Amino acid sequence: MVQDINAEIVSIGTELLLGEITDTNSAYIARELRDIGVSVFRMTTLGDNEGRITREIRQAMSRADVVITTGGLGPTVDDMTRQAVAVATGRDLVFHQFLLDDIAARFAGFRSNMTDNNRQQAWLPRDALLLENAVGTAPCFLVEHEGSVVISLPGVPREMRFVLATHVLPWLQKRYHLGVIRAHVLRAAGIGESALDDLIGMDLLAARNPTVGLAAHSGVVDMRVTARAENESKANALIEVVAKELYRRAGAWIFGTEDDTIEAALVARLREGGHNLALSETGIGHALVDRLGQVAGFRSVLRHAEAHDNLDALPESDEGLRDLASNYASTLARQHGSDVAIVVISDPERLEDQADRDVGTAVAVSVDGQLASRVYGFGPRSREARLWTGTWSMAQAWRMLGEAKA
Ligand code: ATP
Ligand code: MG
Repeated sequence: MVQDINAEIVSIGTELLLGEITDTNSAYIARELRDIGVSVFRMTTLGDNEGRITREIRQAMSRADVVITTGGLGPTVDDMTRQAVAVATGRDLVFHQFLLDDIAARFAGFRSNMTDNNRQQAWLPRDALLLENAVGTAPCFLVEHEGSVVISLPGVPREMRFVLATHVLPWLQKRYHLGVIRAHVLRAAGIGESALDDLIGMDLLAARNPTVGLAAHSGVVDMRVTARAENESKANALIEVVAKELYRRAGAWIFGTEDDTIEAALVARLREGGHNLALSETGIGHALVDRLGQVAGFRSVLRHAEAHDNLDALPESDEGLRDLASNYASTLARQHGSDVAIVVISDPERLEDQADRDVGTAVAVSVDGQLASRVYGFGPRSREARLWTGTWSMAQAWRMLGEAKA
């Protein structure tokens, strides 16, 4: 059985609390721990205050299996992590001549003088395990105490990353039975995040292993299924069960996995079915044809493409704009004898004089005479209008082609 290990991260430095530097170390450590299957339950930031650091380390160790500190390992008086760990774990600090020799050699190496306060860094809590910091002078260490471990890393990001990767992660993997983590992403489009959330259901979304997490980016919603298990094949088997269930519940919207794009999925479906496509874009440049043009084989399914800066006498209302797009999609399909037609209409003139009001961009899709349409509240020429109408219309066409086949 794999062990559930939980961790806390304590970032130390008054500059963090003053907002002068951003705590990127905690986020980095958290991602690395996630990737080996250690759950982070809490992050704390403290200034250079020995009493508070000591209390925090003690409390964190009473809650968590693993406590990782970052910062405060340097040679100056405000670097007090070493001292705090010693006090929190009821140990004294022990001087190590070989550490001082190392530090001295390093200073000699870059031809600068070691100051007296560098001697401080040669002291470690009794019985601490030294984690060699080959890219800096601050020695790092870990102390096991009453069933927990506290691991102290430097604040300098480059040094922290080095010690984490070369010593800490391997140590954790050896010390605990963490198993392996595998993730698989299913990609959905044409459906909003909350509607997808409803389709999937709380049972899957609240499950602990595998977990299912949703992440939305401009019309595409990723479902990340992450499993932890003894070995890779067991993790993959866990993922497969959940992925199957996701397809059963939301398969109509899932166009691909991992790095698949909706444009590639649409082109593939058009080619498979021997279909072709007509496109008309107004007020959004030629965003859609550009996106589809990235996909190999697109030219073979494109029957017609047109782009307009503006159309004469566009309707005043969103509803009117939507009707116009729908009618034009039907017309376009008929005129060009194409099975699929996509029309996007955004009115550039409405942006300037009605900035306070939703300025719609209408999009319509016709597949074998069936119509789907909607209006977005994004103005013309906006990046959002191009992204969302493109993704939505491609997703609709992809889905309607699938339904027509079924
Ligand atoms: P040093 O030997 O350099 O003093 P240290 O372990 O004492 O190392 P700090 O003095 O706390 O580390 O921080 C050194 C520098 O590292 C900071 O000035 C800052 O630029 C960076 N740093 C510290 N903590 C963080 C953090 N949590 N996230 C990102 N950068 C950090
Ligand atoms: Mg320092």
